[in-house]
Amino acid sequence: MRVKYAYLDEQFPALDEYLPELRELVKSGEFTIGPYVEKFEGKFADYIGVKHCISTNTGTDALILALKSLGIGPGDEVITVTNTFYASAGAIVAVGAKPVFVDSDYRYQIDDTKIEAAISKNTKAIIPVHWAGMPPKMDEILKIARTHNLKVVEDACPATGAHINGKKAGSFGDVNAFSMHPLKPLNVMGDGGMIVTDSDEAADWLLKYRNHGMVDRNHIDMWGVNARLQPIQAVIATKLLDSIDHLVDLRVRNAKLLDEGLSDLKDFVYVPPRLEGYKEAYQLYLASFQRRDELIKFLIDNEIEAKIHYPIPLHLQKPGLALGYKKGDFPVAEKQADEIITIPAHQHVEPNQIEFIVDKIKEFYHKM
Ligand SMILES: *Cc1c(COP(=O)(O)O)cnc(C)c1O
Repeated sequence: MRVKYAYLDEQFPALDEYLPELRELVKSGEFTIGPYVEKFEGKFADYIGVKHCISTNTGTDALILALKSLGIGPGDEVITVTNTFYASAGAIVAVGAKPVFVDSDYRYQIDDTKIEAAISKNTKAIIPVHWAGMPPKMDEILKIARTHNLKVVEDACPATGAHINGKKAGSFGDVNAFSMHPLKPLNVMGDGGMIVTDSDEAADWLLKYRNHGMVDRNHIDMWGVNARLQPIQAVIATKLLDSIDHLVDLRVRNAKLLDEGLSDLKDFVYVPPRLEGYKEAYQLYLASFQRRDELIKFLIDNEIEAKIHYPIPLHLQKPGLALGYKKGDFPVAEKQADEIITIPAHQHVEPNQIEFIVDKIKEFYHKM
């Protein structure tokens, strides 16, 4: 039985449902920002429960622009976690600031108890990452930020649909970022991103900066960039947003089945605890496995497309080492990097496939 990691060819089975809106868009000729983009922005802001959404062409640009809107730049330090996607740190470097890494905790998230030790006189902001769609301990992180007068930019790129006691990922920090890359819970037919904020000032700046600094056709207020979301993607996202909770619930169903199935293998497998009140979006289903490299080979041989996110934490990547980091700096994340596997558990994986995965993992450990 094949269990696919990438499901993009199955992602839009009912393409016809999108055609009336796409036809309307094509007829309107509204190909740069315009009403289709604004409609999506309003709908997404309502969904997250914030005042403003400014869409962008990627999640990475959403992070870069979010940092810039808060005035973060050269000479500043920004704290983030070492096990995350490259863009969490890449965005910090792109605005001219310096990334300062913190170790992961037992849930693969930024360890809030280690943030204060990473604060220096140059620290301006924290980027808590909702890594793999799992919210980090936002209340604790906000408390630290308030105490030290730091800005918070949530990297909620993989976490549309996640929340803590009903408060959505992306509604905690000052200016926060999302992605609609094809492998995120809310995805379009290509790239897309969103910045969300309650700050009128940040939103006003972002709307201009994203579009060349323009206030109207003939005037600019500042030098800006073109980081606009494509209207065609806005049309797709507006429709797909209606089913995001359902799509995430399918991932939650699969994650629960995996949690249960793997609980029989406690001697070999570590599944992170699921905190009360935290809803995870399960962009990735992560767990730690003994004899990881042998197991992943076994799974792939059995057509289960498991992956590793990531085998090398950011501080041990080439540009991380160039910042002065070395092996041993973040022992928890480094150990996790040697043990984690991402099991396919997205919305196109069926319960019988999860059963097959669990059976195969049991077979692997029991025939030792
Ligand atoms: C996907 C992702 C990004 C980048 O989003 P893009 O839309 O691919 O640019 C940034 N941070 C995290 C944690 C992500 O998962």
